[in-house]
Amino acid sequence: MNIKIADLEFEPFISGEAIQARIKEIAAELNADYADKTPIFVGVLNGCFMFMADLVRHMNIPCEVAFTRLSSYHGGVTSSRKISHDLELLVDIANRHIIIAEDIVDTGNTLDYLVDKLKERNPASITVCALLLKPDAIEYSIEELTHVAFQIPNEFVVGYGLDYMELGRNLEGIYRRVV
Ligand code: 5GP
Repeated sequence: MNIKIADLEFEPFISGEAIQARIKEIAAELNADYADKTPIFVGVLNGCFMFMADLVRHMNIPCEVAFTRLSSYHGGVTSSRKISHDLELLVDIANRHIIIAEDIVDTGNTLDYLVDKLKERNPASITVCALLLKPDAIEYSIEELTHVAFQIPNEFVVGYGLDYMELGRNLEGIYRRVV
């Protein structure tokens, strides 16, 4: 069923069940790859909160969780290219294995910035898990981006943590804008 959020209409796109199934697969890969590494999952708020929660729920190895905040959208439907905050991350990541849990990679600007900032703190390694990737929008080559749950067209989506005007984050599935 289509839904309305503020002034825009959205249609169902990726079901909650499909999301959970992909997350389980990605978690299984991470459980194997990081078995003896005690990784730190780093999430960018607010969009990552559901993805992070569901991903780490399936981890059966020791791991830590930390959050930071960066934003380049400011409530609209296109990327503004300005990252509004410097990196706030209280945990010491030197010599630690970092797994970034990113909600969506659009141009890649935010992720590129985050990876660079984290590298300055000398982690042992960085891997990125993204729930969604828009291959037609990406403008950066980010070699750390190794796990992608779904590749989607260059369309605006909400749900499962992603918002439009701060609304829609609570939806269990992903919805795309009807134009
Ligand atoms: P990038 O820096 O890759 O261009 O944009 C990344 C950020 O823009 C994401 O973390 C997310 O906050 C926002 N974003 C990009 N595409 C979408 C979209 O389709 N829907 C929503 N709600 N946010 C998006």
